[in-house]
This record gives sequence, C-alpha cells and structure tokens, in this order.
Amino acid sequence: MPKEIVTKTEKATYIKCKKCGTEVLSITNSNLTSCRCGAISVDGSKELVRVIGNPEDYEVITK
Ligand SMILES: [Zn+2]
Repeated sequence: MPKEIVTKTEKATYIKCKKCGTEVLSITNSNLTSCRCGAISVDGSKELVRVIGNPEDYEVITK
C-alpha cells in the first residue's frame, strides 16, 4: 500500500533508500521516480508525498 506523507515544510524533503543510499527528492512533479535499486518509488508535490515501497526500506529526511 502506498504511504502518504504530508509535508508542510519549506525545506526540501528527500526519501532515502536504505538499500542503495539513493536520496530521491520528494517533489517529482507527478513523475514517479525510483531509487537506483528500485526498492522504492516516490511521487510527490509540495503538499503530498507518496512513497511506494516497503516502509522498512526508506527514511524521510529534510535538508
Ligand atoms: Zn534503492
């Protein structure tokens, strides 16, 4: 099941894959973006970030 994460921060949000270490910028402008190993996919806007993948395989970080 896709997870939906609401972000209301000015900072850029990244979804980091724990398997390959790829940091995917959460704002993808409706382009589904996968990490290097394909374990996670991110589809997000400023308001809503959808992560497809195992919750144990990624973490949410802000910069
Ligand atoms: Zn990965």
